[in-house]
Amino acid sequence: MATCEIISVGTEILLGDILNTDAQFLSQELAKLGLSVLHQSTVGDNAKRLTDLLTEASERSDIIILSGGLGPTPDDITKEVCCSFFRKELILHKPSAEKIENYFKSKNREMTENNLKQAMLPVDCVIFENNNGTAPGLAMEKDGTHILILPGPPRELKPMFFECAVPYLRQFSDKIIISHNIRTFGIGESNMATLVNDLFDSSNPTVAPYAKDGEALLRVTAMADSEAEAEKLCEPMLAEINSRLTDYVYGIDYTCIEEAVVEKLKNRKMKLATAESCTGGYISKRITDISGSSEIFDCGVVSYANEIKHRVLGVSEADLNEFGAVSEPVARQMAQGVLRLSGADIAVAVTGIAGPNSDSTNKPVGLVFVALADKSSVWVEEIHTGRKDRDYNRYVTGSTAFNMILKYLRNN
Ligand code: ATP
Ligand code: MG
Repeated sequence: MATCEIISVGTEILLGDILNTDAQFLSQELAKLGLSVLHQSTVGDNAKRLTDLLTEASERSDIIILSGGLGPTPDDITKEVCCSFFRKELILHKPSAEKIENYFKSKNREMTENNLKQAMLPVDCVIFENNNGTAPGLAMEKDGTHILILPGPPRELKPMFFECAVPYLRQFSDKIIISHNIRTFGIGESNMATLVNDLFDSSNPTVAPYAKDGEALLRVTAMADSEAEAEKLCEPMLAEINSRLTDYVYGIDYTCIEEAVVEKLKNRKMKLATAESCTGGYISKRITDISGSSEIFDCGVVSYANEIKHRVLGVSEADLNEFGAVSEPVARQMAQGVLRLSGADIAVAVTGIAGPNSDSTNKPVGLVFVALADKSSVWVEEIHTGRKDRDYNRYVTGSTAFNMILKYLRNN
């Protein structure tokens, strides 16, 4: 199998001014093509260091994909350095020059001479047209090593990758790779690993754990000659994992837990309402981020102040005084209150201490009560995130509420 590596060019990346999302994108897409990415590196806009890296890369990889440094300014040197590395001469490519001229005309902008630098291309390269900018990309080969150069801006790189690089790269791979993500909630990455440890030794499909934002997921990846065969390899593994983690799995291939909530409520033709204190509307935001959520989302109340908890949601003043806003009875009454207020079938409510500081009661930061009510019952979960990170606590609070909805739908 052809081996591949990615070189990101740009001093900005080294300085941490921009996040290297191009490398992430390329790695993900190359894997889908069945190409193994064995190295990723970043180098500044420096001819000597880029040449050294190309020397190293060409010794170990069949395909080198570079991004960035294709622009018109003197610090954009990627193409020039790669061509001198391959000892290929750059000459003016007339159609590209015309395209650049037209691009400037269409934008009513003056073209400066240095823009023509972008139309200087080696004779025997494959030109990647840029439909979203001026610099064409290219692919060239020497002694079995292939170099592909793509522009840095993601809005240029991504379409060029799909339109030009993918057809070029097909020659290196006749395998199909399929991945499925099993998404879980409520089990830590290490607990999950102990339950499925032996499966990590499997080679096709492979099984790999990932942890993100309080969730753990397992990615099952199979490689085969056809999509159907790859799917067939995945199937028994997915079933095995599902049976071992059954209490925690909320679905396969969802991008996030709220997507599962919206889909499942939609299937059941049910409506949801929310009452939020510590998350300040973040739960309803996450729900309404999902397209089609209007079918399932009824209303959300952000009852930050105690007075609103009482006046709008009907939480007992006595309970607010006795137990405090962050308490089991308050969460319970918030959920029941918003359910009454709305026409929804179920409601979730959250009240907690997001941090970084505690409230006047000195309850621990990261303590949250999450309630779910339907028309006849109400359930409350108490969570302790153990963290002082406000963003994390709010996110996990939302995810816990979503997970309660999913559990409710499984059992009712
Ligand atoms: P330009 O013609 O815009 O100069 P270029 O191909 O020369 O394009 P760079 O000069 O290296 O690319 O980067 C231009 C911009 O593209 C950067 O400021 C950044 O916003 C984005 N960019 C570059 N490299 C990356 C990367 N690896 N990941 C994400 N964004 C990137
Ligand atoms: Mg540039």
